[in-house]
Amino acid sequence: MRIIATSPVSGSRAGWNSRSWCTGCFPNREVKEEARVSERQKVELAVVGAGPAGISAGIWARRVGLSAVVIEAGEPGGQLRGVRGPIPDYPGWREVQGPELARALVDHLLRSGTPLVDSAGPVRVDTAGRLVHTAAGEWEAEAIVLATGARPRRLGIPGEAAMERRGEVWSASRDAGRFRHLPVVVIGGGDRALEGAWLLAEAGAQVTIVHRRTSFRARREWRERVFRHPGITVMAPAWAVAIQGSDQTQSVRIRLGGAGEIEVPAAGVFVRIGTEPNLEGIHGLPRLDSYGVVAVDRWGRTSLPGIYAAGDVCTPAPYTGVASAVADGMRAVKAAVQDMEGANPFKG
Ligand SMILES: Cc1cc2nc3c(=O)[nH]c(=O)nc-3n(C[C@H](O)[C@H](O)[C@H](O)COP(=O)(O)OP(=O)(O)OC[C@H]3O[C@@H](n4cnc5c(N)ncnc54)[C@H](O)[C@@H]3O)c2cc1C
Repeated sequence: MRIIATSPVSGSRAGWNSRSWCTGCFPNREVKEEARVSERQKVELAVVGAGPAGISAGIWARRVGLSAVVIEAGEPGGQLRGVRGPIPDYPGWREVQGPELARALVDHLLRSGTPLVDSAGPVRVDTAGRLVHTAAGEWEAEAIVLATGARPRRLGIPGEAAMERRGEVWSASRDAGRFRHLPVVVIGGGDRALEGAWLLAEAGAQVTIVHRRTSFRARREWRERVFRHPGITVMAPAWAVAIQGSDQTQSVRIRLGGAGEIEVPAAGVFVRIGTEPNLEGIHGLPRLDSYGVVAVDRWGRTSLPGIYAAGDVCTPAPYTGVASAVADGMRAVKAAVQDMEGANPFKG
């Protein structure tokens, strides 16, 4: 098993980057490298996922005195690591870059003393037995917090996978300049779709928004900016049915409500149709709600005894965010402690 770090932690944050959460990159930390263990370890709480929700759960586990572990299959920090523009809305930071906030959160977890473990491959969670299996070790927990986050939803239409294979996966904030004077298609009706459309139009792109409804879920701020922008055309209700182009994207075929199909030129396509929870490897899934995310009560209890969820994995798209993920992590741990100490509904 490889424990990334245990407390206490010293040294500055400087130099932390996408590859440096390996043990060797923290020379000042008290780091345990152990031989791979085959025996199962018992902990009171296993947290699966080290984004903002899982990190918060790990910090809170220590605070309430639980023996705990946070297990991460990718890079700790979660989605924040890929946020290019500044985050202006996380209290305490007037404006912070995603990777910088991720770094601060990971540092806080490491300082808390709850171990952060690199799963070294896929993670299998057996919810009935409350077991977490990884190539790096195996944990039997009294409670598990699922904090596996979410990823962008795909359209599943012809040409989409080929576009991704060609590396045409754009960020509106990072890549807007590339599309100056070029046609682009943005698909979706939420905040990320409309914010992206506006950023692209401001940078000089000719933007077409394709949305399957006539109402838009996005905040009023973005609706107002988009609907009065001269560089943006809105097609709704309309459905993208194919992305076309061989060496690079050339156009999108769009079905218009009741009016057949048209082809719209596109040098870039931005699919912004929400997210879906990361649930791979979770055997014995808790119930999902009508939004397709893990259903939880107010405190993060799922439909399964001893299984809690926090963050984007259990939050519908309009309500996701760092602040809500962090709050969820705290609530799930407090609920787990209460259940362990109280009526204890899930213990033999
Ligand atoms: C481009 C962009 C801009 C954003 N801007 C803002 C903003 O301005 N303000 C704001 O508040 N929010 C913003 N967000 C949203 C915010 O980043 C998320 O809401 C937040 O990161 C959710 O935290 P989380 O811990 O629930 O999930 P995630 O951040 O998704 O973290 C989940 C973690 O779990 C890991 N994982 C997944 N599956 C497994 C598994 N089976 N086993 C172990 N580990 C697993 C993942 O590798 C990941 O590290 C933005 C997101 C994006 C993508």
